[in-house]
Amino acid sequence: MYIDSHCHLDFDVFDEQRDSLILRCMENKVGGFLVPATTFVSWSKLAKLVGRYPSWRAAYGLHPYFLSEASFEQIDVLGEQCDAQRVVAVGEIGLDDWPNAVDMKTQIDFFSRQLDVAKSLKLPVILHARKSYDLVLKYLREIGFSYGGVVHAFNGSFEQAKRFIDLGFVLGIGGTITYPRAKKAHRVLAALDHGSFVLETDSPDMPLCGFQGDDNTPLSIPLIAQCVASIREESVEQIAQQTCDNLLRVFPRWNEDLL
Ligand SMILES: [Zn+2]
Repeated sequence: MYIDSHCHLDFDVFDEQRDSLILRCMENKVGGFLVPATTFVSWSKLAKLVGRYPSWRAAYGLHPYFLSEASFEQIDVLGEQCDAQRVVAVGEIGLDDWPNAVDMKTQIDFFSRQLDVAKSLKLPVILHARKSYDLVLKYLREIGFSYGGVVHAFNGSFEQAKRFIDLGFVLGIGGTITYPRAKKAHRVLAALDHGSFVLETDSPDMPLCGFQGDDNTPLSIPLIAQCVASIREESVEQIAQQTCDNLLRVFPRWNEDLL
C-alpha cells in the first residue's frame, strides 16, 4: 500500500479521468492521496472532491508562486476552511525564488501569516520551497513553528535536510530521483534515516525520467518507490511501509483506518 503525499488531483486536467484514475491507482496499491490546494478559488472544488473520494486528504493554503490574485482576507478565512472534511495540513505554502513569482517581501508576508494560522490550529504544513530553504527555515524558527510537515520536492543538501528533520519535517521524494543525473539527490537520499521521507508525485507535474512531456499521475508512485529502494538498497516493501508510517506520523489527523 502506497500513499501519494503530494498530488494535484483537483486540477482540471484530471476532470475527465478522475474516477478511472483513482480506480487504477487502487489496483496498483496507491490507496491514499494528499491533495494540497494552490489558490483561494481552488478551495471549494477541492472540498467537494474530498467529499466524494474517501481516500483523499486535503490541505488548504495559498501557494507562493500563485499569489497574484491572493489577499490577506483569504488568509482570514483559512482557519475556517481548515474545518472542512478530512483536512490534515495547511498548504501548500512557502517561498518560491523563481522568475515571475511575486516579490519576496510579499511572499514572506503571506508565508508567515499562513504559518501563524497553522500554528494556532496545531496543524502541520506542506512546504513549497524553491531556492529558498534557508529563508524558509529562518521563518519557521522565528515563528517557533513546531508542528512539522512535509518539505515538498526536496532537493537540498544533507545539511539542509537535517535542519528540516530537526524541526519535525519529513522530505517529499518524487520524480526527480528517477533521473540518473540527479547524483546529489541520490547521495542525500541514501544517507537519510528511514523515518525522514515520504513519496510524492506532484501530479500532473514532475514527470519521471522517460515520461517527459506526459501528465504525471499517482500511478508513478510504485516506480518512484522502486527507484528509492534501489538507491537505498532496501526492499520496495520496506519503502512502502516506512513512507506510509512516516506520513501517518507527520499528519496525525490522517485516519488510520484508511489503510
Ligand atoms: Zn504542488
